[in-house]
Amino acid sequence: MFADLHLHSNYSDGTYTPEEVAMHGSRYDLGVLALTDHDTVEGCEEMAAACARQGIEFVAGSELTAELNQNELHLLAYFLDTTNAALLEAMGKFQNVRQNRICEMVERLNKLNVPLEAEAVFKIASCRSPGRPHVGRALVQGGFCKTLDEAFERYLKKHRPAWVPKFKISAVEAIELIHCAGGVAVMAHPGLNRSDDLIPELAEAGLDGLECYHTKHPPATVEHYLELAETHGFLVTGGSDCHGMNKGKPLIGKIKLPYEHVRDLKRRSEEIRQGLDPVSTQG
Ligand code: AMP
Ligand code: FE
Ligand code: FE
Ligand code: ZN
Repeated sequence: MFADLHLHSNYSDGTYTPEEVAMHGSRYDLGVLALTDHDTVEGCEEMAAACARQGIEFVAGSELTAELNQNELHLLAYFLDTTNAALLEAMGKFQNVRQNRICEMVERLNKLNVPLEAEAVFKIASCRSPGRPHVGRALVQGGFCKTLDEAFERYLKKHRPAWVPKFKISAVEAIELIHCAGGVAVMAHPGLNRSDDLIPELAEAGLDGLECYHTKHPPATVEHYLELAETHGFLVTGGSDCHGMNKGKPLIGKIKLPYEHVRDLKRRSEEIRQGLDPVSTQG
């Protein structure tokens, strides 16, 4: 049995509904799917139901935008208790910041004589965790750009005129938050961040795993992170990081993680939960 542990839906910047993600997962014979939308767990309930209908095991997750020593990094969280109050409060804050950021980006566009309205972006996003891809889609839909790529190149990429920096929780706090919600903390796509220097500090902060398998990791990168995981005693995860039809061909099905890694994650989550609850550690 195989898993894809990195998937986005239309509850963040993916284009598929959770139902569509589950349907594609089933087409590629994936037995386990994790939903990891940016800074939200809003889609997890729908995804759990959709996976149940397809006979797929569902892992509740998220991908938190974090920072360490001024480096942006993404932390995947798995086996989260999506009803945890501290988690929901923190995510509510991230989502507020994201919504305000949309308004700031729209203001910048307006100053550049692009008369886009924030409402148009929120309507396209239709979720609590909007981001730059939704602004990009609104620019295309409004006829201000021909393609999403053009929208990023002209306006939205880092240091382009409509770009606004994003709030990032400190990685140390993010790991604490994930653990407090019973979840397992994994560094996403380490090969894309050139952030190996950060790994010892993250290990110290309680990082549980590394996403060794990712669609943008060539084989040598996979090998490198498998070795690092072994050195630090990290769990190993993998996923396609599929955003639906956003970026050309959907990526789901390109990564097939053996089930043993899911089992290890599940065991770690149980250990974390036992550590949280003094009653259960006595049994
Ligand atoms: P945000 O979280 O609002 O900063 O948006 C980041 C998201 O934008 C990433 O997760 C990608 O899905 C998407 N993205 C980043 N760069 C590009 C690009 N050049 N073209 C299309 N999508 C992009
Ligand atoms: Fe994304
Ligand atoms: Fe990411
Ligand atoms: Zn992602």
